[in-house]
Order: sequence, then structure tokens, then C-alpha cells
Amino acid sequence: MKRKTKLIHGGIPFDPHTGAVSVPIYQVSTYKQDDIGVHKGYEYSRTGNPTRHALETYIADLEEGARGFAFSSGMAATHAVLSLLNSGDHIILTDDVYGGTYRIITKVLARLGIEATFADTTSIEEIEGAVRPHTKALFVETPTNPLLKVTDLAVVSSWAKARQLLFIVDNTFNTPYWQTPIALGADIVLHSATKYIGGHSDVVAGLAVVSDERLGEELHFVQNATGAVLGPQDSWLIMRGLKTLGLRMEAHEENARAIVAYLSGHPAVRRIYYPGLASHPQHELAKRQARGFGGMISFDVGSGAKASEVIKRLKYFTLAESLGAVESLISVPAKMTHASIPRERREQLGITDGLLRISVGIEDGEDLVEDLKQSLREE
Ligand SMILES: *Cc1c(COP(=O)(O)O)cnc(C)c1O
Repeated sequence: MKRKTKLIHGGIPFDPHTGAVSVPIYQVSTYKQDDIGVHKGYEYSRTGNPTRHALETYIADLEEGARGFAFSSGMAATHAVLSLLNSGDHIILTDDVYGGTYRIITKVLARLGIEATFADTTSIEEIEGAVRPHTKALFVETPTNPLLKVTDLAVVSSWAKARQLLFIVDNTFNTPYWQTPIALGADIVLHSATKYIGGHSDVVAGLAVVSDERLGEELHFVQNATGAVLGPQDSWLIMRGLKTLGLRMEAHEENARAIVAYLSGHPAVRRIYYPGLASHPQHELAKRQARGFGGMISFDVGSGAKASEVIKRLKYFTLAESLGAVESLISVPAKMTHASIPRERREQLGITDGLLRISVGIEDGEDLVEDLKQSLREE
């Protein structure tokens, strides 16, 4: 089945009880038992709910994994996955991971005795250098946010396998439409479904997919024990969003290419970060490991003052956190999504005050380029 077909026919494409072609919203908390312990597969909706189950089966199918899980946010999914670690364990993470991931690791899990090292995971030597005797897991985000650095999933996963490390990939930016990390050897894939998967800026949700049944049992235990499950209404909205994921990702990409072509060589733009650019350090890798380059672009206009001037003049790019929805958004990572990372560390990474990140929407690409043209004019 090709990808666009799988988005329509994958998972549980209709309600097994009524044949409804849209799985209904099972707004229910508990289920009648015919005898003690005799039921139709559902006992209590924290443990399992048919609408959530349909979404979980759907995302497992799309990510080519064994079992899927839906959570009340991307961070809840991340938290559940990281709860597979024990006190005293050490984890290696991509150095410019999502700010919330950095925060949960350094401010919450650190208190529970889980140690972490942040490394440039685009380099296997850097990862190797971060290993300690008690290293148990490796967490990679690719492409990263906001610098769009790309990690070689096949190389890193075989490296992790040889050391029996749990290999976790945050696939939020590329989505299963462009990239399937489990097929490249990942053990667990994570998503903030709030972004491209939901796609309409109307739901906060998280997803996780595991590569085998044993991990599935472990993660279901944590999901049920900690309880940050996605409700049936939101599960339904995420499924509704997923149906058009292919069309949307193609449209985001087409517009992103037009914008990158315009920004390249613009005198006000000091640097552009986009994996689709031939000058991107991991361009060849991005081409090989993903089916598209995505709709996220970062570019540096030199200073915080210039960045705010540009933003003020834009008409179609809304100043907002988040990404991956139908409308174009712009943000200043240093002051918004990545504000929880200390300034010194941000600057080391290249997340300067003049760095703008755009999430390209699915408006007409010509309008988006025109808008950038008028906002980037030199006064
Ligand atoms: C937004 C985001 C998260 C967190 O997801 P929420 O749904 O906001 O909790 C994690 N990883 C990445 C890459 C994100 O963009």
C-alpha cells in the first residue's frame, strides 16, 4: 500500500460495530461486564477506549511499528517513554532537542536520579564520547528544532543496537509521511501530534509507537499507570487530521521550496537552515533517509531588533509558538520555544536572538513569498 492510500485505509478504517466509515467518538469511561472479568476488550477508558484504540492502531500502522499509544500532549508521550528508565540510568540526547524535552530531562527527571548528556548526534564520534557505563538510552530529534540538523538514523540505530541502548526518535518534524524511523532501526518513535499530525492548530496531543510487543507491554503499563491519555474527542480530531497528512505535507513542502529559493541570497538574510538546500551540511543524508524535507525553515536576520521589525510587517505569518498547521506561523525561538534553554547554551547552539523560524502553511506560495518580500525590505 502506498503512503497516501495507507493514510486512508490504514489502521481501523471503519467502526467494527456499525460499519461507520468514521470511527465514532466513544464518549465513555466504563464498560458493562457480562460476568466478572468478562468483557468486550474494554474495562475502563484510561486503560483503553475504542476511539483512542483506533488512533493508536492507525499511528502504529503508519509508523510501521508493533503498537501505538496516544497521550494528552507530546510532553506526556515523552514523559511516559522516559519513564521506562530507572534511577541511576544515563541517557544521551540531541543537543538542540525541543525546549520542553530539555526541561523535563534537566528539571524533572534529574530529580529522580536519571542523568543526561546532550551531544551533537549528527556525529557518531560525539555520541560515542558521551557514553557512560550506565548509559541505557539514546534520544534523537531529527530534523531538529529550530536548526534543522539531521541525524543518520540507520547508522545511529545500528550503533545503539550493538550497545543494547533503547533508541528513541522524535519524528514530529518529518511525520511518518516523510520519515519512518522504526524501518531504519529505532525502538520507539515519538510525536507531538499537536503539530503536523493534527495539523489544524486545534488539538494538543502526543503519540508514541514501539517496534515490538515487549516494549508495547511496558509502555502500556506506564500509560495506564500514569494516566495522561488522550480523550476520545481529541483522538477523533487527530484521526481526522491524519487523513489529509499526505496532501498537507506535499503542500507545505512546495511552499517551503519557493520560500527558500526567495530567501537564498537575500541581503538581509545571514543564514538559512533548511535540509532541502544543497548547502545544508546533511543535505545528502536528508535526501536518503526521508522522502521530503518538510515545511520548517529557520533564518537569521542578524539581531533581535531586526527580527521584530520583520515580524511586525508580516501579514500572513502569525507570530505564535507551535508549528505544522495549515496556517503559516513565525517565531523567535530564543525568546519563545527555546526560552527555557539558558542564553549561553542557546548561543553556543546557534539559536541567536535574530533567528526566525517559520512553519510554512498551505496558503498560496506566491502570497507567502510576496509577504516576506515586503517585510524583508531594507529601509
Ligand atoms: C511541540 C513539540 C514537542 C512537545 O509536544 P506538545 O504536544 O507541545 O506537548 C515535542 N517535540 C517536538 C519536536 C515538538 O515540536
